[in-house]
Amino acid sequence: MVAYIKLTIMTNIFLSQKINNFSRINAEQEKALKKLGITTLKDILYHIPTRYDHNSSAKLIRDIVPGEQLTLYGKVRGLKTGKSFKSKVSKAEGTLDDDTGTIKLLWFHQPYIAKLIQNDSLVKVSGKISEKSGNLSMLNPHIESVSEIPDNIGSTLFEGGSTETFIPIYNESKGITSRWFFNTIQKIFKSKEFSEIQDPIPEEILKKYNLPTLLSALIWLHTPKKEADAEVAKKRFAFEEIFHIQLQNELRKAEYIREKAFEIDVPTSLINTFTERFPFPLTESQATSIQDILNDFKKGHPMSRLLEGDVGSGKTAVAAVTAYGAIATRPKGQNFGTLQVAYMAPTEILAKQHFESFIQYFSHLPISIGLITGNGCRKFPSKINPTGWTDISRSQFLKWVKGGEISIVIGTHALIQKSVEFKHLAYVIIDEQHRFGTAQRQKLTRKQKLVPHLLSMTATPIPRTLALTLYGDLDLSLLDQMPLGRKKVITKIVHESERDKTYLDIKKELQEGRQLYVICPRINEPDPDKEASLLTKSVKAEAKRLSKDVFPGHKIDIMHSKMKPAEKDKVMDRFSKHEIDILVSTSVVEVGVNVPNASLIIIEGGERFGLSQLHQLRGRVIRGTHQPYCFVFTSESGSKKSDTTVERLSALEQAKNGFELSELDLKMRGAGELYGNKQWGISDIAMNAIQNIKMVEAARNEAQSIVRQFATIPALESQYPLLAESISNKKEIHFE
Ligand code: ADP
Ligand code: MG
Repeated sequence: MVAYIKLTIMTNIFLSQKINNFSRINAEQEKALKKLGITTLKDILYHIPTRYDHNSSAKLIRDIVPGEQLTLYGKVRGLKTGKSFKSKVSKAEGTLDDDTGTIKLLWFHQPYIAKLIQNDSLVKVSGKISEKSGNLSMLNPHIESVSEIPDNIGSTLFEGGSTETFIPIYNESKGITSRWFFNTIQKIFKSKEFSEIQDPIPEEILKKYNLPTLLSALIWLHTPKKEADAEVAKKRFAFEEIFHIQLQNELRKAEYIREKAFEIDVPTSLINTFTERFPFPLTESQATSIQDILNDFKKGHPMSRLLEGDVGSGKTAVAAVTAYGAIATRPKGQNFGTLQVAYMAPTEILAKQHFESFIQYFSHLPISIGLITGNGCRKFPSKINPTGWTDISRSQFLKWVKGGEISIVIGTHALIQKSVEFKHLAYVIIDEQHRFGTAQRQKLTRKQKLVPHLLSMTATPIPRTLALTLYGDLDLSLLDQMPLGRKKVITKIVHESERDKTYLDIKKELQEGRQLYVICPRINEPDPDKEASLLTKSVKAEAKRLSKDVFPGHKIDIMHSKMKPAEKDKVMDRFSKHEIDILVSTSVVEVGVNVPNASLIIIEGGERFGLSQLHQLRGRVIRGTHQPYCFVFTSESGSKKSDTTVERLSALEQAKNGFELSELDLKMRGAGELYGNKQWGISDIAMNAIQNIKMVEAARNEAQSIVRQFATIPALESQYPLLAESISNKKEIHFE
């Protein structure tokens, strides 16, 4: 075993070797590589070609014509390095012979080529033919050794792919070409340590799913003989990545289970008494979700659950009922006072809104509720006014939370500051935060022996395969039913030609006293700063246009991401008080904000949004009693694309809920484009593979069966050292 671990370290050293220790690169190249996220040999080997150039145009030297892009086979001679005469650029040169002629080969900036290939060896070169004073040469050709020269060159069209070449094309950056990648990777392949690299994926698993070993997969990926090789290799790397994520998930889950939490057995009668007072019956899925949570409370180890449900599906009610269960029940074996609940929201407006709704839910009970944001603290009930809240000082607030006098603490991120200490924090609810990292969770539990139960809530439905991967360590509860009697949003896909008529319809609603959101189109710009300023510009321009030409006389204001949170809050606040009729905004309008009188939304450039995102946006108008409308404007009408666009968008009118739309999105546009893998640190191939439920489930099953036996990193290390190493090097996936 010791020897094995030693070997691991050895191979690891090879793969984790810095490139500049292995191959000489200049400063510009180093920068270029860094930009591509590449610093080690492993990074290079895992740099997946974006495509392969097919080159079946092999020719004989006598048949070549200057300017042509082609492949030649022959014997290479006279390889040497030097500097070019004028510019002193390093170069390599040699000649290629076949039975019909000779041609010069020249490489600039790649002196190592001369050392990579041996004189008199058989090679295949691909590149462009140039001519200088009657002499033909091939400049910077792609070169590789071959064992034999195909015998039908120049005579027929090649069939069967025997001489077809696949040249990998990589994501490049200035100074680093695909050819550089190819050559460097060939050099890595040739080093002795490469052949000793061990596969982190256990052999049994590879066999079971018919996946190639790491060595084969690397070779097939970077020098495929046929298309299928590359596909199989990619499949393996996608599996590897998803398998690693699943292992991390399972280990984290095992960790939760080892931790201890307050064991709370909430009597059903307690819950019934609480919910009987509601002016509505719970939906079936609310009741099931509440039951899921209460079951978790009983287990003695912390819950880790995600509650997914469309905007308006009633997540807050689930939060309130279960919070009540936690604070109204004495935990098993403890005789102290009330437990505490923390409820965290991403913005101040949302935190305030939750505070207000919780006061409604709890006003009949002797339960105190606190609010903490960056701008101060509040407490309910107030001594002077038992039915309302009062502002209190931060120090008073902190004292009461620490003493356990405030049992429900609602707040923004201010909640997880060091200074906020709880007495018996039993349950943490996070709203609209897609992911609450382990580190943040630990911040909340610093001084406690018992870890709180955790409920994350999100209105962003994601497809099941994606949820299994990204939230695989969480248990899932779904609110897939809307409360009864809810008015369905009437969604209309509006063509440019119907714009004016639509404005007239909207005007009528505005005159009846309704309010309108106008969402400006997404702008795809890789630089987020640039994107934000472009968006700001378009928001301002649209607001101006609307107030001048379309809705004169109505109060219009704007919101965009360049505004400070406090400014955004102010605008939102004025909108909710109806001091503004029309809010022109980017898609950053806070999710979950409740302005019941806003029953209209226009989305410009609808084709640029994913269906789920459009669904999210229209969710802003379903809070009130008025019939809500959503107008999706497309600027593509009349173009070729418009048919598919309309078809895609029309799914919005038919789909039952956000889950259905997210699945459709995944099918039509692929996960990468939709969910921005960059942000999650997941590669493109893994993102695409996530569409394959079979693969995701296989990876998950294997991870589960391993973690069932080896439930900690040290345990895993004893049996699967490479696996343990790979996943402890991996960063926690985190996105907000
Ligand atoms: P979410 O947080 O999921 O967007 P909320 O919890 O804010 O939704 O609920 C939206 C509105 O629906 C609130 O006004 C709430 O009182 C109401 N509501 C919640 N559950 C039900 C239900 N089962 N029947 C009718 N109305 C409900
Ligand atoms: Mg909500």
